[in-house]
Amino acid sequence: MSKYESINPYTNQLIKSYPDATQEEIEQALAAGEKLYLTWRNQLPATRSQLLHQIVNTFKKHREEMAKTMTLEMGKLYHESLEEVDLCISICNYYAEKAPKMLEPTPLETNLGTAYYLKQSTGIIMACEPWNFPLYQVIRVFAPNFMVGNPIILKHAHNVPASAQLTEKIIQEAGAPKASLQNLFLSYAQIGDVIADKRVQGVAVTGSERGGSSVAEAAGKNIKKSTMELGGNDPFIVLADADSTILKNVLSDARTYNCGQVCTSSKRIIVVESRYDEVMNILQHTFASLKPGNPLDKETSLAPMNSQKAADKLAAQIKKGIEHGAEVAYQYPEIESSGAFFRPMILTNIDQNNPLFDEELFGPVAEVFKVKDEEEAIALANNSSFGLGSSVISQNKAHAQEVASEIDTGMTVINGRWITAPELPFGGVKKSGYGRELSELGLMSFVNEHLVIDVSK
Ligand code: NAP
Repeated sequence: MSKYESINPYTNQLIKSYPDATQEEIEQALAAGEKLYLTWRNQLPATRSQLLHQIVNTFKKHREEMAKTMTLEMGKLYHESLEEVDLCISICNYYAEKAPKMLEPTPLETNLGTAYYLKQSTGIIMACEPWNFPLYQVIRVFAPNFMVGNPIILKHAHNVPASAQLTEKIIQEAGAPKASLQNLFLSYAQIGDVIADKRVQGVAVTGSERGGSSVAEAAGKNIKKSTMELGGNDPFIVLADADSTILKNVLSDARTYNCGQVCTSSKRIIVVESRYDEVMNILQHTFASLKPGNPLDKETSLAPMNSQKAADKLAAQIKKGIEHGAEVAYQYPEIESSGAFFRPMILTNIDQNNPLFDEELFGPVAEVFKVKDEEEAIALANNSSFGLGSSVISQNKAHAQEVASEIDTGMTVINGRWITAPELPFGGVKKSGYGRELSELGLMSFVNEHLVIDVSK
């Protein structure tokens, strides 16, 4: 069972503990969510656009408070927290403006009569979210479903309870109905009960394979629709003709943004041999230039990890990898701190028998693979249980697009590292999950595509 606690990973000091939700609170949330759904289903999405714009304004008002809360309880650099709030504002604006049109009925061509399908709300959706982007992960589910008319019950990660509560408070302060987003500190057993409740129609999970498979099992058992945004082991393919400046710029934070705790971080750097030494030099220089410190300070460029437990887990994975032959090509010097720091590291010589080969390393660790040519690079990229994101670095854009189409992932960025924007679908294949968030695809995740056909002559 999770314990909801805010712990500052920079000091490893407890800020505050939060009790689990009571049965009464859960029942109240379900009843309020159902009531709101029944009201919203009779209203056009456009009636909620103005309210979503008000939510934007309220997030702008609380921008610094939200950013500071996230940094304090999961350790990311303060400027990254501010960027996250701004990204969420753009997601809300996008859906407020675009969703009404996207949710209009779609006419269908058929000889059988006049046909179209409606895009209707379905009911309460449960969102199970991780700590790595405490606001963005929630808004990716909240904003589209708010426009569709599906109230959200949020079960956030155990280590970001203050961010969860503040998000709920800001949305309510904007004037949205209380049940638009209700945060509940649920135990795993309570999650199962909520999913089984007949008022809940779907569950959106972002998290690891472990969390995803457990929640997907409960959803499957209860025939509830689910979307799974899970982990990744993203390949970053450097081709022989990669532009040196682009390579340097892209690698500068591909493995260290959010302290490497991004599902789409470039975890496996796959380099054709002619560019290997250059890539190793860039990575080493990048890591060596980092400055550890308080993530609230402007000068800090190396943040602690989100928790001591996460840092210990990463260290244990690496120890095992080294025992199976991985080599440490570089590691950042010792850091004097009581915080959850992990010294950035470059690993090489990871062969297929190494447990690391098919595991996600969620922290500032670059795994570098030398390959003889592009064909070998693509084969290695696809030799993974995961299929979330990928990158191709090459000056030949047309050819890079061909390479992109051969990679088994849900997303590929050419000449860049991971990217996200409201209008771009986000999601993966294989063990990285199913379904998409953001864009028009994400808006449709939990709608009822309700066919209406008039066959009268
Ligand atoms: P996690 O342990 O799976 O947690 C995600 C959420 O699921 C949390 O709310 C967690 O609650 C809950 N959960 C975990 N185990 C559960 C279980 N057995 N039953 C019910 N709920 C459960 O993931 P994480 O380690 O916090 O997050 C990092 C992972 O998320 C990485 O693998 C990363 O790649 C992935 N991720 C994917 C995306 C994407 O869009 N594809 C985006 C961001 C992150 P507790 O905190 O209470 O355990």
